[in-house]
Amino acid sequence: MQFSRRDTLELGLAAFAGLGATTFMPFTARAQGKGDSYKTDGGEILISPVSHASFVMTVPGLVIYNDPVGGKALYEGQPAAGLVLITHEHQDHFDPETLAALVSADTKLLVNPAVLEKLPADLKAKASAIGNGENTTFGSVAIEAIPAYNTTEDRKKYHPQGRDNGYVLTVDGSRVYIAGDTEDIPEMRALKDIDIAFVPMNLPFTMDVDQASSAVAEFKPAVVYPYHYKGSDPEAFASKVTAAAPDTKVVQGNWYG
Ligand SMILES: [Zn+2]
Repeated sequence: MQFSRRDTLELGLAAFAGLGATTFMPFTARAQGKGDSYKTDGGEILISPVSHASFVMTVPGLVIYNDPVGGKALYEGQPAAGLVLITHEHQDHFDPETLAALVSADTKLLVNPAVLEKLPADLKAKASAIGNGENTTFGSVAIEAIPAYNTTEDRKKYHPQGRDNGYVLTVDGSRVYIAGDTEDIPEMRALKDIDIAFVPMNLPFTMDVDQASSAVAEFKPAVVYPYHYKGSDPEAFASKVTAAAPDTKVVQGNWYG
């Protein structure tokens, strides 16, 4: 099931009125050590921000680590990864040592083509790559690679168009967008029916708060996490999003504890 803006609003109002809602709600329950909980059609999505661009997301049937870096200790207490997503090769997203420490015999990696070529052989054996616009599935989770790139002339050297990935995961009736390192590209603005989004904002590598909030106000996810925002103000982002798209809920994670 997809959620229109009106569905989301009505679910929110129903919950607010104490009527209960059994499907996705743009509200979080934040349980200690468990992450933020979002109900799906048949279960829940749990989101645990770890650091900067790294987080753990548990969906029905699969534990997903996004861009895990920074050493194994950061992931203590988390369930073991079934799937590791890597958006691109920069060190705050791709860390072979951390990967080697976190993967088990059952872990698979899904990466962009450039990272596939940089993986050590033992990790490469567990990995597959998809490029911009390509799709794959892991169990019941459908994954599409969304472009992620800079559009401002003097930033294009950081993330040239065509190399790096964002991802849209469709799981159990809900859609999660992980933007990767990107500016407010047309492919982001054109996204539909996103329930949870992760959007970066830091200069000079990605975009500023105005670009990020403007894009989010256009594709209107039910929930957005500002992430990868070192040096930017996530509260300023939240204010701008709330003013321009009041139905989108901004959730702040503890990314820089
Ligand atoms: Zn990057």
